[in-house]
Amino acid sequence: MSALKNLQDLYVEQLKDLYSAETQLVEALPKMAQAATDPKLKAGFEKHLTETQQQVKRLDSIFTDLGEQPGGHTCQAMKGLIAEGSEMIAQEAAPAVKDAGLIACAQRVEHYEIAGYGTVVRYAEVLGLPMHVTQLRTSEQEEKDADLSLTSAALAINQAAMRG
Ligand code: FE
Ligand code: FE
Ligand code: ZN
Ligand code: FE
Repeated sequence: MSALKNLQDLYVEQLKDLYSAETQLVEALPKMAQAATDPKLKAGFEKHLTETQQQVKRLDSIFTDLGEQPGGHTCQAMKGLIAEGSEMIAQEAAPAVKDAGLIACAQRVEHYEIAGYGTVVRYAEVLGLPMHVTQLRTSEQEEKDADLSLTSAALAINQAAMRG
């Protein structure tokens, strides 16, 4: 891995990390949707899969604009978060309890992504890349909305999980 000389280099490195995270999620979200029982939760995962595919496209266009390639970096944190999601999917559990467990995993993912986008939005501002700021803010907002809708789905699901 080559040395990071300045903020621009760190920006590209952080974008690669996000790209890896998002592409891993494109693979993982259908499995989360499949494992969910609550129809609202299932639909939420499916909706966020579509958004995640758009987020990958936004990152693609940013890499094109920078004349950089998106590959060559694995987001180890997302790999771990998805591994925890897979454990929950494989876990024997009452349906509502499993749903609550899937939400617990998914909200960790959304918070990780919110942190990642928050960082690159600030870098793009400092680097004077307003088109990137707009694109990255759109994805950041989708992550925040996804987190909020998981919180809202959890209201009923946690009640159902309490009954078992
Ligand atoms: Fe995302
Ligand atoms: Fe990462
Ligand atoms: Zn990384
Ligand atoms: Fe997300």
